[in-house]
Amino acid sequence: MNGLETVIGLEVHVQLRTVSKMFCGCAVRFGAPPNSLVCPVCLGLPGALPVANEEAVRLAVRAAHVLGCTVNATSEFVRKQYFYPDLPKGYQITQRADPLARGGAIDLPSTRGGHRVRLHGLHLEEDAGKSIHDRFEGATAVDLNRAGVPLIEIVTEPDLRSPEEARFALSRLKQLLEHYAKVSHCNMEEGSLRVDANVSVRPAGAGNLGTRVEIKNLNSFGSVQRALAFEGRRMTQRLAAGRPVEAETRLYDAAQGRTRTLRGKEEERDYRYFPEPDLPLVELSASEVEGFRRGLPASPREIEERLVRQFGFSEDRACQIAATPERAEYLDAAVGARDSRFAVIAANMIIGEVAAVLNRRGGGSEADVVESAELARLVELRLQGALSSRTAALALRLLFEQAARGGRRLDVDELVRRRQLSQVEDAGRLSEWVDRVLGGSPEEVRRYRSGDRKLLGYFMGEVMRASSGRADPEAVRRRLERALEEREG
Ligand code: ADP
Ligand code: MG
Ligand code: ZN
Repeated sequence: MNGLETVIGLEVHVQLRTVSKMFCGCAVRFGAPPNSLVCPVCLGLPGALPVANEEAVRLAVRAAHVLGCTVNATSEFVRKQYFYPDLPKGYQITQRADPLARGGAIDLPSTRGGHRVRLHGLHLEEDAGKSIHDRFEGATAVDLNRAGVPLIEIVTEPDLRSPEEARFALSRLKQLLEHYAKVSHCNMEEGSLRVDANVSVRPAGAGNLGTRVEIKNLNSFGSVQRALAFEGRRMTQRLAAGRPVEAETRLYDAAQGRTRTLRGKEEERDYRYFPEPDLPLVELSASEVEGFRRGLPASPREIEERLVRQFGFSEDRACQIAATPERAEYLDAAVGARDSRFAVIAANMIIGEVAAVLNRRGGGSEADVVESAELARLVELRLQGALSSRTAALALRLLFEQAARGGRRLDVDELVRRRQLSQVEDAGRLSEWVDRVLGGSPEEVRRYRSGDRKLLGYFMGEVMRASSGRADPEAVRRRLERALEEREG
């Protein structure tokens, strides 16, 4: 890119999954009827007093722990004043000079650049309401259900060097907060994870940062990556044409795939921050802070490195297994003391069949599909050659369907026997099916013999059907080719 490099820093807002709002007792619930979850405090009525939600503080500290931040013994809420229709108090309660936590880092998986993205810090604040522009013709509606929902804001240092890296860092952040700390649903569509991206370009390796642009209105990880790529190109072209980049805030238009100016630097507002007089300092003893670690799993990076070391997994396989700590535990339970050959097959079944079933039913845990001991038995049968990857997958689905229907559940060996899933290498039955299929399709056999070799696929499908999916496809192919040759000769 003509000697220029892109520099990116992210500001991320994440709604905490508390039962009630940050400073009042109103429920936190997405999709409730507009303005049904409000009270004098979150409506900003005169005289109403906020009280900090302890569960929100606990979740924020857990988030800080998984991100490796240093939690401050004392932090302070401040008022950030501005006018906006969806901000009834006329100010937002947030943190600034003394935030909940500082520092920390997101470690990218080694297949994703492997480097460390430093964090500036993490602070607590309240969300604003929502302005809805497309509900009433010519008017804007305001829904204050979201006003006062607890948020954490996480700011990275400008350590990212490409739009792809920014995307990886975000998915790592989501993984950490949603599945490891379990503090948020991190759902970009519902707005429980929101991202502003800052980007600049500079001569590669330069010490100073270039002029930055902030991009808002990013509603998916794909949008973040595409908006940053567009903006990087736009800035590079400007500089190449000898025109400076303007410091501004831009909006991403996903439909057009481009950014446009929202406001320039000169309009930057003075928020007149001052300490929130109605709330005490947030004081956390060292033992409280440590206590909030309880139950947190090892970090995904540690789990990934262990899987690579212990079982020789590829980085990719390790990352997929460490997607959630529960999935990694499930693998460990299935593998027990067995070797890496076993672990690789188990991992492939978890990433493949088990994940497919979970996707179809829209979530849940691996053990809801099959118990780890059942998975282990399926892997054993595969290693013994009794099941192929196809029949093992079929057995897994049948076990899950039995469980879903309730009622008595066959164990793995019983199921394999009853359903005759054990691999049919038995030459007699295979040739019987092949003969039946070829005998029943004289026209196709004639066309195959006169050169239409694509028909092999048709015959294979028919034989697999005749075997109810039990036959080993490779054996079927060999047997069919031999039989068709014989018929030709
Ligand atoms: P502000 O307080 O005005 O929002 P910050 O200094 O806190 O500004 O930075 C906000 C975000 O912008 C951070 O993620 C930071 O890493 C990033 N950032 C700051 N300067 C640059 C730059 N020149 N290029 C890219 N990102 C930047
Ligand atoms: Mg900012
Ligand atoms: Zn309220």
